[in-house]
Amino acid sequence: MPPPVFRFAPSPNGYLHLGHALSALLNAEAVRAAGGRMLLRIEDIDVTRCRPEYEAAIYEELAWLGIQWERPVRRQSEHFADYSAALQRLEAMGLVYPSFESRAEIAALVAAREPWPRDPDGAPLYPGSAKSMGPDERAQRMASGAPYALRLDMEKALARVTGNLAWSESGDCATGEIAADPAAWGDVVLARKDTPASYHLAVVVDDALQGITDVVRGLDLFHATSVHRLLQALFGLPAPRYRHHRLILDADGRKLSKSTAATALRELRAQGLTPSDIRRRVGLD
Ligand code: GLU
Repeated sequence: MPPPVFRFAPSPNGYLHLGHALSALLNAEAVRAAGGRMLLRIEDIDVTRCRPEYEAAIYEELAWLGIQWERPVRRQSEHFADYSAALQRLEAMGLVYPSFESRAEIAALVAAREPWPRDPDGAPLYPGSAKSMGPDERAQRMASGAPYALRLDMEKALARVTGNLAWSESGDCATGEIAADPAAWGDVVLARKDTPASYHLAVVVDDALQGITDVVRGLDLFHATSVHRLLQALFGLPAPRYRHHRLILDADGRKLSKSTAATALRELRAQGLTPSDIRRRVGLD
């Protein structure tokens, strides 16, 4: 049996905080327990928000925590061609269409039709009518230079999947076979005119390309797994095992944010905390 393969996949759009420390440490612990491999993936698709100094800090702080990972590290910004190829496969299946509404236009459409369904992250499902746009108008709008989002036609995508979509979960809120519910996300965005892949598309492509067998990540991504399972099924890719772990919350019970210096590992380290202190702060040991 080849060893199980784990990954920690931070985005360098801010400094790592205690929640990332928990995630990275749980991955490292699972790797040790299973005699597995530990990969690090830099999720820097959004080149407008990611910065080299944040990436450098990721390596520095993970090493400080005592985490080891294999080289070379996969940086998503170096693999846009892989995501484009995946998108083209979905396009060839007739499952992708462009929509042209801005966020403000989407908000206005939704406001006029409340109550309107929301996805598990609280964003309104796509309310527009781009799906029924004729091919000529579509081509002409795309050629005009207008911004657009490329969306998955959820209804058609689900119709292509036979059998039940599920995943194996061993996390802090659920265990066992979890039924995926991708329809709850509506016509998710797979790419934008200026961003060749969404998180959902890139994560599915990369987990498969890297042979990831075990995904250990925060509970904030639990529901996103439904979209990931659907994309895996459409591409004929194997599903990793998933473990969604508890989140570290701030004093007000909110999810930590990269913009809060108080919980940044960098800041805590500068204050003199040790890696053992960090382990205790995140409830390990
Ligand atoms: N890049 C994502 C984040 O920083 C994590 C993706 C994942 O683990 O699937 O939240």
